[in-house]
Amino acid sequence: MSLISQQISGYLERSSWIRKMFEAGIALKQQYGEEAVCDFSLGNPDLPAPPAVGQALRELADHAGEPFTFGYMPNGGYPWARAKLAAHLSSEQGVDLTADDVVLTCGAAGGLNAFLRAVLEPGDEVLAVSPFFVEYGFYVANHGGAFRTVPSKPDTFALDVAAIEAAIGPKTRALIVNSPNNPTGVIYNRAELTELAAALGRASQKHGRPIFLISDEPYRFLSYDGDKVPSLLPLYQHAVVVSSFSKNLSLAGERLGYIALSPLMEGRATLTAALLLTNRILGFVNPPAVGQHLMAKALGSQVDAGIYARRRDMMARILRDAGYEFQMPAGAFYFFPKAPGGDDVKFVNRLMEEKVLAVPGSGFGGPGHFRLTFCVGEDVIARSEEGFRRAIRG
Ligand code: PLP
Repeated sequence: MSLISQQISGYLERSSWIRKMFEAGIALKQQYGEEAVCDFSLGNPDLPAPPAVGQALRELADHAGEPFTFGYMPNGGYPWARAKLAAHLSSEQGVDLTADDVVLTCGAAGGLNAFLRAVLEPGDEVLAVSPFFVEYGFYVANHGGAFRTVPSKPDTFALDVAAIEAAIGPKTRALIVNSPNNPTGVIYNRAELTELAAALGRASQKHGRPIFLISDEPYRFLSYDGDKVPSLLPLYQHAVVVSSFSKNLSLAGERLGYIALSPLMEGRATLTAALLLTNRILGFVNPPAVGQHLMAKALGSQVDAGIYARRRDMMARILRDAGYEFQMPAGAFYFFPKAPGGDDVKFVNRLMEEKVLAVPGSGFGGPGHFRLTFCVGEDVIARSEEGFRRAIRG
């Protein structure tokens, strides 16, 4: 007699690699002490929020005794917060957005769920480009969809538009792309996104209903070497941006995100109405009240990305000197090197013997690689050098 559903029981048994590494890390730290372990497994932003966040919180505290400061509000967020975000995104994305084109959500995770709930019929397919953020599969299944992946190009992790077009069928309702990418650090360029938009337009025509292009972009702010992240909203009629303030303002625990619809989308008022409803009936009810105040004051500021850039360079030097093969991340805070010997699970276990924690690429649909997150201080990165050298020797 099971207390839980078969599906969830299966998920628990095959619990995610990130979670396994997280638990292994706790055990290692208990055994050898925090200082001995170099934990590159979790993408929990460790930089302090920018000063504007603290300032906004102090100002809000002065209103804490007033009625409704923390009360319910409309399901898509405070109208003033939506309008402020719409103005900000208009300049960021190079389109004209109004408050009605933007819905505030509980993180990008909540935004993806609200969106999928609004557009999927039972059995509809959602495609994602692999390697991919592992939660996508769960989110699609939450809403009765079928999740399928299409590999990116080997080694460069660039979009394989021909493969995506070939994978689209009559049941395909959406494609999720994530740039800058977790776990590969790749940024898709304008040429490949333009080609992708054309392919999706053709496929939507052919199958007689819109195929949405969901751009999951919480790492947009974090690109290196002056690389620009092109916007999809002006490129494709059925493009949707889903993002959050988890990484750029280090507000991951405050759970504030959003969905923005392309102003090219005809009849999008119906979709906005659907998103307000799904945000509510999924039990999110409304986005966090405090987070919206913080966002409104801190929009335009961000954590010190120079710190991530220095860590990236340091880690790249260590990996290169030790003999690892990898593509330099163009954005986000992850490396996705090739696992020496080809077996990523075996190699991650070997690293663990050196008290270095990584996540096997298999957990992201990218076997033969492993993921390292640089949400840790430079001292930890420096300390890992010997472990990386010894592990590659066998
Ligand atoms: N998408 C990607 C690619 C992520 O890496 C994450 C978090 O790590 C999320 C979405 C969800 O972020 P949040 O719900 O905190 O905005």
